[in-house]
Amino acid sequence: MSDRYAVFGNPVAHSLSPRIHALFAQQTGQELRYEAIFASLDGFELALRAFVAAGGRGANVTVPFKEQAFDLATQRTMRANAAGAVNTLMFEGGEIVGDNTDGEGLISDIKTNMNVQITRKRVLLLGAGGAARGVMLRLLYEMPASMVIANRTTERARKLAELFAEEAQGTLRNATFVQLAYGDAFDIVINATSAGLDDAELPLPSSLFAPGCLAYEMVYGKETPFMRQAKKANARVVDGLGMLIEQAAESFFVWRGVRPDTAAVLATLRA
Ligand code: NAP
Repeated sequence: MSDRYAVFGNPVAHSLSPRIHALFAQQTGQELRYEAIFASLDGFELALRAFVAAGGRGANVTVPFKEQAFDLATQRTMRANAAGAVNTLMFEGGEIVGDNTDGEGLISDIKTNMNVQITRKRVLLLGAGGAARGVMLRLLYEMPASMVIANRTTERARKLAELFAEEAQGTLRNATFVQLAYGDAFDIVINATSAGLDDAELPLPSSLFAPGCLAYEMVYGKETPFMRQAKKANARVVDGLGMLIEQAAESFFVWRGVRPDTAAVLATLRA
């Protein structure tokens, strides 16, 4: 019988993960089944334990269960601890191992798929929720020249900057959206807010986007106001589909020890 994996979420029917992992499995010849499991808002732990009891080998976790998955894990990787959230679980010998592959997913997409280096660049990260925190450590590992975090709720950006101050070694600061209008331009602007889901526009000046800037929208499957703003400012614009596929590939590697060819899957899903 093939090994079982799943993504847990609420909602989860829209998730592309079952399709992505089926393509990875087909491509690499791995025998596995991957399904989407809907859990009620107070039913995640029960659903997860039932899946483990039924022989599940690993799982992805999406909104709104990433923090609960972090709490349920009996062991956590360093990147899960840095993110304060878990999107990948492995079930081994009675242990629940929690990992987070979002940071790796973003970096792979920017560096490999977009062919943009982060080292020595000026980076702006918009948002201070789970997605922003999840990619912070991995972004700092690339040693950008500077990094600014801006968020609608200023206090959350300040806290995030404080949390990663040691790793950033003086290259990280927080800013308000208003301050951005009077500040520097950036080589890479990453939108880790969920504003695009509601078609909400962020108060961003076009002077923010330096010539040749990469504007990265984590939301995928639609053109968001951020993407339109960035296009108008002549930035190179991309959505978060590549990140989704790359974080899935990293999970697949963690589970199976095999790295799928993400470019082929990205091309299939874009088509
Ligand atoms: P979250 O924890 O709920 O945080 C939401 C963030 O968006 C907060 O910083 C919030 O600011 C900000 N925000 C929401 N509406 C806004 C608006 N109208 N104007 C300005 N800021 C606004 O969500 P999350 O988990 O960080 O996820 C953020 C987005 O990333 C989601 O859309 C998600 O789909 C996407 N994502 C994509 C991938 C991928 O693989 N492509 C992976 C992870 C996440 P406040 O603090 O002021 O509320």
